[in-house]
Amino acid sequence: MIDPTDIRLDDIVQMRKTHPCGGNRWQVVRLGTDIGIVCLTCRRKVYLPRSKFARQVKRHIERGAETPPTVKG
Ligand SMILES: [Zn+2]
Repeated sequence: MIDPTDIRLDDIVQMRKTHPCGGNRWQVVRLGTDIGIVCLTCRRKVYLPRSKFARQVKRHIERGAETPPTVKG
């Protein structure tokens, strides 16, 4: 279980459910009210509300670039 508030753009994550295409690697492409993720196998984009994302995300596979500490909000 990962901390859903500790999600960065370009993170590669694994979700609890395998996508119907068979893929289980997702890249985070949007952070907002909804979290946008792209299936790296079929390139389908999915938007999930943060609460739903938090329930469905399983683990990090790769971390995106760390946000510089001077940039906030
Ligand atoms: Zn897919």
